[in-house]
Amino acid sequence: MSPKELMISRYEAFARKDWNYLAKTATNQSVKELELMPEIEWLKLEVIYADGSQVEFKAYYRDANGLGVLHEKSNFIQENGSWKYKDGELFTTKIERNESCPCGSGKKFKKCCI
Ligand SMILES: [Zn+2]
Repeated sequence: MSPKELMISRYEAFARKDWNYLAKTATNQSVKELELMPEIEWLKLEVIYADGSQVEFKAYYRDANGLGVLHEKSNFIQENGSWKYKDGELFTTKIERNESCPCGSGKKFKKCCI
């Protein structure tokens, strides 16, 4: 699995709360720690680019405060022949008003879940 494929599979694992998979595919995340994550509904993933051991993505979610976006550049390292998530750099990105709404309605964000 490439870092990009691993990133996508980890996003899907977050969506179904598969903490075991997430702990297994990261260098420093424990099931205990992952279980403490706040309740989040993941809506959509956009991989912006993948290059060598880095993957930049935007993951859209809904939590108690409404819709938001997690924009991260993740670093992966190879351990015993398989890639693992190491850490990431977060960006303070917001959902653009004219972007199509991440909820999937087809409307612009400013006319939907803002
Ligand atoms: Zn919406």
